[in-house]
Amino acid sequence: MSQPAPNPTIADAGAPFDDPEADIILRSSDNTDFRVFKVILKLASHVFKDMLSIPQPSISFLSHEDTRDGLPVVRVSEDARALDLMLRWCYPLPSPLQRSLNHARLALELSEKYQIDGLSQIGKDCLKAVIKSNALAAYAVACRFDLPDVAKAAAKATLARPLSAHPSSELTSISADRYQTLVSYHQRCGEVASAVADDRRWLPVGIMVRAPSNPCSMCCSRDARSTVAFTPVSSWASVYLWDFLARAAIALRARPDASAIGSLYRVQTFTCPSCGLNRMSSLPAIRQVLAEEVSAAVGRVTLPNVYGHCATSPLLLQPCRTF
Ligand SMILES: [Zn+2]
Repeated sequence: MSQPAPNPTIADAGAPFDDPEADIILRSSDNTDFRVFKVILKLASHVFKDMLSIPQPSISFLSHEDTRDGLPVVRVSEDARALDLMLRWCYPLPSPLQRSLNHARLALELSEKYQIDGLSQIGKDCLKAVIKSNALAAYAVACRFDLPDVAKAAAKATLARPLSAHPSSELTSISADRYQTLVSYHQRCGEVASAVADDRRWLPVGIMVRAPSNPCSMCCSRDARSTVAFTPVSSWASVYLWDFLARAAIALRARPDASAIGSLYRVQTFTCPSCGLNRMSSLPAIRQVLAEEVSAAVGRVTLPNVYGHCATSPLLLQPCRTF
């Protein structure tokens, strides 16, 4: 004869979810009871509003497991930590906003599951706050929850490093089609940014470019990439300028972001032993102009729409269960 399953140990949540005046109990998946008020749940959540608007059976008709201290018990699939956060976000309390990817996911998932309007903005704010540190994952979450402005900002933030250098753990949360879209966007931005360094029509003539009438044979050379857009006067410059631009074009193809050129040629001074000129003095200005040109060019590259639910995408979150 089988023995009945022992009753689980029920814990009680702390304040403010231990109010003796509460009129309903929410029980977490790990058996913590939160004493709350129906009116707050109904105001915060469309799902709770609909559920609690249905006439409830008298407490005397509910089973022992569905009541406690004369109050109805509603079991939810969230654990105590998630339920605590959700209720604090719903209650008229200071919002426990932690700027983490997990909080962003949780807020967005709960907003969707329980139709809590205010949580969507909280999740969005959390997600924006982690774009810089978790660009790829933020992009995936933004696509999943149909947040196009956040997805675009996150996609742009991925440009600060080669796509292959992003943590591989973040790839588990992104579908193949969305990742491929991001790869294409990254490559297009790389082509555009690299072309800026190769084009060189933006070069501020007169800052570093020297006239060919008196070029220094030791530190100046003709631009090997000189185009018709360049006059003969501007096609001569320090060999360091041309080398800087060639390196910048390579770096920008993998990292189409102004930060990619920040670490190139940090030396501020190099005095040519032949002509006596400091050939590095104008490099900071050149670097600044190039950075601005790259940012402008990359900003014109658009990211295709890849938002909302995707049938083939792996689940970012634990499946939602009904309560
Ligand atoms: Zn020289």
